[in-house]
Amino acid sequence: MERSPKRRRLSTQQAGEKIKGGQKEPRGQEEPIKTVPKIDEKEAGGSNSSNNPLTKEEPKCLGFPNIGQTCYMNASLQSLLTLENFMDDINKQANVWRVHPDAAVMRYLSKLKEEHSSEDMPLKSFLLSKLKRAVSFDAPVFADDGQQDAHEFLCTLLYQIMSLSPELQKAAATKGTTYSCPIKEHLSFKMENTRTCKRCGAESKKQEERMNLSLDVTPGGGTVEDMLQNYLQETELEYRCECGGIVSGQRLSFKTLPRALILHLNRVRYTPDYWLQKVTDPVDISRDLVICSEEDGQCYSLVSTIKHLGTQAGSGHYISEGMDLDVPVTDPSDRWFTYDDKMVTETSGADVCEKGRRDAYILVYKRQVSTWPHHTEENCDVEKDIDDLIINVQSLLIRVGKRTPIHLSFYHLFGSRYGQVQLPENNFLYSIYIN
Ligand SMILES: [Zn+2]
Repeated sequence: MERSPKRRRLSTQQAGEKIKGGQKEPRGQEEPIKTVPKIDEKEAGGSNSSNNPLTKEEPKCLGFPNIGQTCYMNASLQSLLTLENFMDDINKQANVWRVHPDAAVMRYLSKLKEEHSSEDMPLKSFLLSKLKRAVSFDAPVFADDGQQDAHEFLCTLLYQIMSLSPELQKAAATKGTTYSCPIKEHLSFKMENTRTCKRCGAESKKQEERMNLSLDVTPGGGTVEDMLQNYLQETELEYRCECGGIVSGQRLSFKTLPRALILHLNRVRYTPDYWLQKVTDPVDISRDLVICSEEDGQCYSLVSTIKHLGTQAGSGHYISEGMDLDVPVTDPSDRWFTYDDKMVTETSGADVCEKGRRDAYILVYKRQVSTWPHHTEENCDVEKDIDDLIINVQSLLIRVGKRTPIHLSFYHLFGSRYGQVQLPENNFLYSIYIN
């Protein structure tokens, strides 16, 4: 396969460019998988060794059994289940999809959510195999017991739910009700692709709907912000313009922002002699991300990750980590869980980031609900607003870990006051509205 050494950024993952995983739990009498090298304890389990198994007082059985190299599916599902609002949105529209013959994926996903803390492993195995079969119906690559790519599985599952929406909207209409696509509501967003002729400056814009972004890992390592920034940076492409110019600049920007943002870290690279290689360069996982679209700025917090353990691209083991949904975000315990198939251990968000630098493969961020106090005209107090703004800016800076100077400006627009913070290092803009 011929590949340009330049960074790709427009296409989603190409066939063959996968990072597979599916090792069975390496315990008991389970048959060893001959094609999967055993993952070295230090390399794979370093992230687990210090985790505490759940105590008896907190009997959680949140794991999913491995039904045959299905860690890629289990990790993807655990990560999705961390998105409570997304799952609730699916469930609350059950009256529309429950009896629809093509909605098996949603039925079993919802059922797995319902049985998430059940101790009944045979039931979970049954539901997982039903879900796998439902997904495989249109994506036969997942039909057998082979190791698969978690990102590909996750995208396939989400795409299938989204594709069903027109059908479900029709079905809802016949019942005199409505259906809104949970993917569109929570996960999808629009990117704008702007092409500018280097000679005459003529611009052409095109919008694309996305459910996630695939970011290349910066060689030698870097932060998630760096990688996102790289992704949004202008690249050059050959394009013959009407003016005769042959070079254009191409740039992507967020047109809209999702409620939950899924970032895929592209950990596969071709060697010069075209071997697939796993990229293990470290990524500094940001707990919080500030992202701006053309109209809006939002702060996101990390809520789950999928990690690929192992040194090879063609095999390995996936685990997922997610925050404990019963613990408020502001709780100092910072309690998270590590989901390794049916084994669930306790960990912390800080540990997940610290120990996942070389293995993190998918990061799921959730938009923060603004804690900014709302003021009405009657109780508006300009000085207090300014104080609050400064406190909010400081906490924002602590969250995004910036120690660089920032630009802070205040506006008075259409009777509303708002402040705008610009972090010059990465050009992210954060707007804080007062009122
Ligand atoms: Zn031109």
